[in-house]
Amino acid sequence: MAEKLIIAQSIEEAVSLKDSSSIFLAGGTEVNRLDSPCQAEVLVSIGRIGMDLIDETDAEIDCLKGKKKGRFIRVGAMCTFQELVDSFSVPDYLREACLFMSSRTKRNMATIGGNIASARDDSYLLSTLIACGAAVELNCKGKKHVYGVCRYLKEKKNYPDSLITAVLLPKKEMTVASKRYANTAASHAVMTVSVSYSEGKYRVGAAVKNAGVRRLVEVEDLINAGPVSDEEISKAVKLDLTDDMFGSAKYKRYLLGVTVTDLMKKVGGKK
Ligand SMILES: Cc1cc2nc3c(=O)[nH]c(=O)nc-3n(C[C@H](O)[C@H](O)[C@H](O)COP(=O)(O)OP(=O)(O)OC[C@H]3O[C@@H](n4cnc5c(N)ncnc54)[C@H](O)[C@@H]3O)c2cc1C
Repeated sequence: MAEKLIIAQSIEEAVSLKDSSSIFLAGGTEVNRLDSPCQAEVLVSIGRIGMDLIDETDAEIDCLKGKKKGRFIRVGAMCTFQELVDSFSVPDYLREACLFMSSRTKRNMATIGGNIASARDDSYLLSTLIACGAAVELNCKGKKHVYGVCRYLKEKKNYPDSLITAVLLPKKEMTVASKRYANTAASHAVMTVSVSYSEGKYRVGAAVKNAGVRRLVEVEDLINAGPVSDEEISKAVKLDLTDDMFGSAKYKRYLLGVTVTDLMKKVGGKK
């Protein structure tokens, strides 16, 4: 249980207040959730420091495989899910992913930055953000970095005190489709899978309960090489799938295969 709440007045102040005894408080839906792993003595509220604009920018992003330059839609980290749903400036694929959070009340509080930082394996947004090639803008103790989402997730533990200031979505011709499997709209998802198609290539992201969140490069290599069956896609998946209350590993592998095939049809692309 937190003992102190500090309301930061600027990005600089928020970053300087963050250390191993504190966590940021954005929408608070994860921080205040019963049994949440996000616990600390001090909460640093970032609700008054801006970071709520949606505009455009040119940027160079650091990805796992090197640097990439481009034009991006820049979404402030404090934008709530509902603000994104209501915005005409963000692509439909992100608005649809925000609606995976079924409660409007929660959408009014939860922020895109808080969702990414939580890095949950049943994340509402991460598979979509991976598939579209999004990046996060970080302020690490005053130093700015722009990392591709995959790099951010892989290296997150190296910069625990960093503040996500914005999310960058590539501004280019692209179709993206996502599918989330859960018992009910409000249940934890067994998996969320997303496929994008742009410049002749598919890109695949997945968040699978108890197996992790990542780009499925092994599936991309296969589907970008030529026509393949659901079974071949299922076999190619290298996630460490488990038998658990969400289903058997075999079932999850099957579901990944048919879902990628289904989403490839939805995004168009190669026949
Ligand atoms: C009943 C219930 C069910 C849920 N189910 C799901 C689910 O299925 N999938 C899912 O993804 N989430 C789920 N959540 C968690 C949560 O609602 C979302 O992940 C939400 O997007 C978190 O955003 P927030 O703004 O509320 O974050 P907060 O609760 O304010 O913060 C969450 C974490 O992110 C950090 N953080 C917040 N903003 C930033 C920032 N800008 N930079 C760096 N770190 C930051 C905080 O320090 C904290 O560690 C659920 C929550 C509840 C209560």
